[in-house]
Amino acid sequence: MSHILISGGSRGIGAATAKLFAGKGHNVTYFFKNAPVLQGERITPVQCDVTDPLSVADSVGKACDNYGRVEVLISNAGISYTGLATDFDFKDYRMIMDTNFGGLFNLTSEIIPSMVHNGSGVILAVSSMWGQTGASCEALYSATKGAVDSYVKSLAKELGPSGIRVNAVSPGVIDTDMMSEYTDSDKTALADDTPLGRLGTPDDIAQTLYFLSGSRASFITGQIIGVNGGFLA
Ligand code: NDP
Repeated sequence: MSHILISGGSRGIGAATAKLFAGKGHNVTYFFKNAPVLQGERITPVQCDVTDPLSVADSVGKACDNYGRVEVLISNAGISYTGLATDFDFKDYRMIMDTNFGGLFNLTSEIIPSMVHNGSGVILAVSSMWGQTGASCEALYSATKGAVDSYVKSLAKELGPSGIRVNAVSPGVIDTDMMSEYTDSDKTALADDTPLGRLGTPDDIAQTLYFLSGSRASFITGQIIGVNGGFLA
């Protein structure tokens, strides 16, 4: 039984991941920003704004007081903005960068020392295929995920000698609240553009995160694993 810390576990991909790990017998702490929607056995919600390093330090402390040191960190909390590049200002840039990349930076900065001390640990980031290929009308979002991918690859090289594996899962289009601005016909068009003919589910991503966290993935590090139904090949 391990202690898994998931940011953004209240909804969507994070909630599916929290449920999967808890169902496998692990202790799960999840961070939420607004409301602890998800409840369950072996699942403990802790409020945390991942953009704020002080909030992250305080919340990681609470998580470790409850379940001991974090063995698997899943940095999943994220936001997206859709619009032309010129629609956004500096405030928007700071908010999306501080959430999508800053959240990963703040969480890893807090947790790496204890993983290094113990000579083991797994760090997983939830990125996006748009970080790999770029998306029209999601330029800022894509840039934040590109930063996530580079950071993951760099951390893997830096932390491998300390027995810590670092990977990202890079989802395609996944049907969550993040897609709420899309109409049914938008979603149908996206499914049609996906070789496997459907949108992804939160569980598709959760299952990949679970595999990457375990011993069967013990020789995998520094990878950006696409889970996108073939949308990006
Ligand atoms: P949702 O919008 O369903 O959930 C977002 C989660 O992030 C919520 O739990 C939310 O908490 C949390 N969150 C947002 N901002 C903060 C913050 N500052 N501090 C702490 N928690 C925060 O999103 P998804 O499940 O769809 O997305 C999860 C990840 O997957 C994101 O990184 C996203 O970029 C990525 N992704 C999603 C895709 C998709 O198509 N859905 C595709 C590719 C990548 P609260 O509930 O409290 O607001």
